[in-house]
Amino acid sequence: MTNARPVSPPSAAVGCPPGRGRWLPRAWGAAALVLSLLAPVLAGAQVAPGSVARPASAAADGPATPRPWPPLLQELLEASLDDPETSLADVRRRLKVLKPTGDPEPAFWLAIAAARLEILLEADAEATASLKLARRHVEASPRPSAAMSQWLEYMELRHRVITEGSTEALGALVSARGRLRIDPASVLGCEWDETESWLLREMGSLDEAWRASEALERCGVATGWPHFRAQALSDRANVAGLAGTLGLAASGGAGPVAAERVAQLFEEAYAAVGPGQGRFLRSLVAYSAGTTLTQMDRPVEAARQLARALAASRALSDRAGIAAALTAQATLDVRQGRHPEALQALAEAEPVLRQMGTGTTSRLMALYTTRLLSLAALERRAELPVAIAGALALREQGVQPAVREKLARAVAAAQAVLGRHATAYEWMQRAHGLAEQSRSIASGAQVLRLQTLYDSSRREAELAALRHAEETTRLSLQAQQATARTLWAALVAAVALVAGAGAVGWRQWERRREMAELALRDTLTGLANRRAIEAYARAQFDQAQRLKLPFTVALIDLDHFKDINDRHGHATGDAVLRAFAQAVPGLLRAPDRLGRWGGEEFLLVLPGTTQHELPGLFQRLRGAFAATPVPGLPVPHGRSFSMGGAESGADGAGLDALVEAADRRLYQAKAAGRDRLG
Ligand code: GH3
Ligand code: MG
Ligand code: MG
Repeated sequence: MTNARPVSPPSAAVGCPPGRGRWLPRAWGAAALVLSLLAPVLAGAQVAPGSVARPASAAADGPATPRPWPPLLQELLEASLDDPETSLADVRRRLKVLKPTGDPEPAFWLAIAAARLEILLEADAEATASLKLARRHVEASPRPSAAMSQWLEYMELRHRVITEGSTEALGALVSARGRLRIDPASVLGCEWDETESWLLREMGSLDEAWRASEALERCGVATGWPHFRAQALSDRANVAGLAGTLGLAASGGAGPVAAERVAQLFEEAYAAVGPGQGRFLRSLVAYSAGTTLTQMDRPVEAARQLARALAASRALSDRAGIAAALTAQATLDVRQGRHPEALQALAEAEPVLRQMGTGTTSRLMALYTTRLLSLAALERRAELPVAIAGALALREQGVQPAVREKLARAVAAAQAVLGRHATAYEWMQRAHGLAEQSRSIASGAQVLRLQTLYDSSRREAELAALRHAEETTRLSLQAQQATARTLWAALVAAVALVAGAGAVGWRQWERRREMAELALRDTLTGLANRRAIEAYARAQFDQAQRLKLPFTVALIDLDHFKDINDRHGHATGDAVLRAFAQAVPGLLRAPDRLGRWGGEEFLLVLPGTTQHELPGLFQRLRGAFAATPVPGLPVPHGRSFSMGGAESGADGAGLDALVEAADRRLYQAKAAGRDRLG
C-alpha cells in the first residue's frame, strides 16, 4: 500500500489527493509489502505451486523452491498490519540478537522488513540505513536468490520513488518490472501493481491508475491474499472519487461514479480488512476515505472517516497518521468556512510533524497552505507575516509541483490581504507555472508508462521470435495493443505530434513534445492556441459522444476591451489578457482546458460538465479574474467578461454547431449588458 495519506490539500485541478507521504501515499504500499513478504512462508501452504513467490528468473536460478521463512517472521509481519511501531521494534530487536550462521538470508529479510516498516512510518533516514544493510547482505551472499535481488531492487526503487517522486522514477519502476520479469501473479507483482496505481494516481493519470488497481485486484485473487482486496477496493474508491470530482470517466469507461458508490466502496474496503487485527490498515482506509470524500464535497461522511482515522492513529501512537488526519481535518474545516477550528487542528499537527524530523516537508507545506488560507480568510494581518515566513523557510526540493502550487496560491492570497499586490501577483504567476508543470507530469506519466509497457512487450516479442513462432504471434499481438493504447494516450494528452510514439525513444519523444508544445501554444498568454484548443475540443467531444458523457463548451469575450487599449495602451491590454489567462486555469478540473480563440476571445472546453454547472463556474471565474491584479491598472481593476456556453445534446450536432450555439449565447450576454453568462 503506497501512500494512503496524500500530502496536498485537495486539488480539483490536478487531482492529487492529499497524501500521507511527502507526495506519494505510501502506507498502503507498505502493508502490501508486508503481506508480500509473508508470501514465501505461505506459498507452500495456501497457494498453488509456482503462483506465488516463484523467482521470476527461475531459469537462471535453478529450481523455483522458495526457502521457507521462520514462522515467527510471518507472525511479526502480520502484526504490523495492526501496529507497525511495535512490529518495527520487534524486527529491530531480532536483527540485534540474530546469530551469524553463514546464511545471510534471515538477516536480509529482517532488514527488508525493517526498511519497509520505516518507509511506512516515514522514518526516512532509518529506511536508507536498513536498505544499505540489506544490500550488504546480498553482496555478502555467494549466490543470492532471485527473490532477494528482486525485492532489494524493488524496495530501493520504491524508496527512490517516494523521496524523488518524478516521472523518471515511474519510468524506472515500470522498466525494472519488465527487466526483472516479475511474475504478474506473484505477491511482488501485486506490490508492483499497487505502487504503480498509487504513483499514477498521485500524478493525476487516473485512467492508468484505474487499470493498475484492476491488475492489483486480479493479482490479489491469483495469490489468494484477502488483504489485497481491501487495498484494491480502497484504491478503486480513491480513483473513482477523484474521477468523480473531475467529471472524468476514469472508472474504466463506466462514467463518473456517484459519491454514494465511492462511500460504499470505502466501507467495503474497510470491512475487507476483516475483524479483529488490522487497526493500522483500517486507519489508512479511513484516512483515504476521509480525504477523498472531502474532495467530493461530502463533509459529514468525510468528518466521520477522519475522526475514525485520527482515533485509530492516536490509539497506535502513529505520529505520521495523527499529523495527516489533523491536517486533513483542517482542510475539511476550511472548505466549510470553519477557520478557527482549522487553525486549532493545525496548531496540534505542527509540533508532531516537527518532532518527526526529515521527510515531512510536503506535509508541512500542506499544513502551511491551509494555515495561510485560514489566516487570510479571517484577515488576521498581524499573524500573516510569521506564517508566510514559516512557509517560505520550507525547502522545495523533492516536493511535487502540485503541492508547491497550492502553497504559492495561498501565499498570494496572504500577500493580497496584506495589501502587497505586486508580490501577490508574482506568486500567482509562480502558481500558474507550477500548475502547468503538474499537468505535464500527469500526461507525461501516462504516455511514459504506456511507452515503457510497449517497449517491453516489443522486446519480449523479439526474444520470443528466437524461440517459438506461436509465442511470437501472441506477444506481437500484445505489442500491437500496447501501440493502440499509446496512441490513445497521446490523443488524450492533446499532444498530436506524438502519434507514433511507440516507434521512437523517450528522448526523441520529449523533443517532439517540446516542438509540439511550441506549435500549439499562444505566446502572449501561454494558453493553448486556437489550433490546439480546437484539436483538444474535437478529441474530447468525440470521446464524450462515444461514452455518452456530458460535454460543454463556452466562449468568453472580454468586455470593452478596445477601451482598455485606447485608454491605457496596448501593453496594458496585453497584461489584461495575461491576467485572465492566469486567473482561470487554477479553477478548472483536470480535463478542462482554456485556449485563446483569437483576440480577446477564449474557448473553454469542459468534458463531463453539464450546462447547469455553468452559472457556478461563471461566478468562480468572475471572482478569480476580479481578484487577479493587472500591472498598469488600479486594484481592483474592475474589468469584466461575458460568456456563452452550450452543452452537446442528443441531436447529433457536431462540435462546430456547438461552438456556434455558444457564440450566439455570448452575443446575447453582450446584448443584455455584458459581465454575465448568456
Ligand atoms: P465588447 O465588449 O463588445 O466585446 O467590446 P470590445 O471592445 O471588447 O470588442 P471589440 O471586438 O470591438 O474589440 C476587441 C479589441 O481587442 C480590438 C483589438 O484591437 C483588441 N485586441 C485583439 N487582440 C489583442 C491583443 O493581443 N492585445 C491587445 N492589447 N489588444 C488586442
Ligand atoms: Mg471580441
Ligand atoms: Mg470584447
